[in-house]
Amino acid sequence: MQDQYSRKIEYLRISVTDRCNLRCIYCMPEHGIHRLPRETMLTFEELLRLVRIFSALGIRRIRLTGGEPLLRPELPKLIAQINTVRGIERVDLTTNGTLFASMAKELKSAGLQGITFSLDTLCADQFQHITRHDRLNAVLDGLETARSLGFAPIKINCVALSGINDGELVQIASLAKTAPFDVRFIELMPIGCAKAYHGVPTAQIYERLSSYYGSAAALPHSYGSGPAEYVSFPNFQGRIGFISPMTHGFCSQCNRIRLTAQGNLRLCLHHSAGLDLRTLLRSGKNDAALACMIQQTIWNKPSCHSFLQESPLPGAKSYMHTIGG
Ligand code: SAM
Ligand code: SF4
Repeated sequence: MQDQYSRKIEYLRISVTDRCNLRCIYCMPEHGIHRLPRETMLTFEELLRLVRIFSALGIRRIRLTGGEPLLRPELPKLIAQINTVRGIERVDLTTNGTLFASMAKELKSAGLQGITFSLDTLCADQFQHITRHDRLNAVLDGLETARSLGFAPIKINCVALSGINDGELVQIASLAKTAPFDVRFIELMPIGCAKAYHGVPTAQIYERLSSYYGSAAALPHSYGSGPAEYVSFPNFQGRIGFISPMTHGFCSQCNRIRLTAQGNLRLCLHHSAGLDLRTLLRSGKNDAALACMIQQTIWNKPSCHSFLQESPLPGAKSYMHTIGG
């Protein structure tokens, strides 16, 4: 499936819930969250029907996200079911990791492959400050459990925040030195609560890491097959990746679409353009009609995000936990 800019779309991120057990300062407000009524979320049956349609259109990889996806009851069952859909080659998960260790074996048996943990600090006080919860050890347990059970790849996402965790970036990168984890630094995107903070540009992070670890070799873009650009530092077991929506414009390589927990197909993190699939599903449209509308919508995927525009486009007010990152 291609859009009008010849980008091949083969990766679908599905947000399975808008709920979260953390409150990261740049992602969710501490109080006053409007929770979506449960009946507005897609059921597993609806999700599977959509996955079959997307797969027939060329989607090959699925990533489950949220909110915190491990809060969705019976998630392993959904993963096992998605894995039976013809054409789907892999199912991966992005998680805050706090609930991972206790569910890891069940997730492995369901056929989950790669895990991305979000971890912005290795300091317990800082973790409490950033996530507003005292759960650092649970996340570190999750990481070790994922490693011992052989999930692959294991990635760590770190959002670098100026004046908050930017003194720790060398230490966080060292997770990829001592274990085969890929550590990715993400530039903060100014969505919702994140507008109150400043991110650290990729070039600055790279400079800091290379002045400590030496210069790195760039890896071909095909490594990771997403928006991250990876490098390899000497004597590191894992890679270091940089996701640079603000300074490097990654949109020309974008291969992904997103489905929110309420069934909105979103074509871009920072654009309202999309399709209300829940309403269409519940109004009795057949698979062929849905496939046709999805294809037309994807054809019109915007050429790039609007983070750098002065007047934000519709959709720019969304919080990241409702979109899934
Ligand atoms: N709760 C899960 C987690 O934290 O991994 C999945 C959802 S979370 C929205 C997905 C990713 O989005 C996380 O790695 C998080 O750090 C990242 N994220 C959230 N808000 C962001 C922002 N404004 N800019 C950049 N990344 C952001
Ligand atoms: Fe929750 Fe993930 Fe957002 Fe943190 S980044 S508040 S863990 S959804």
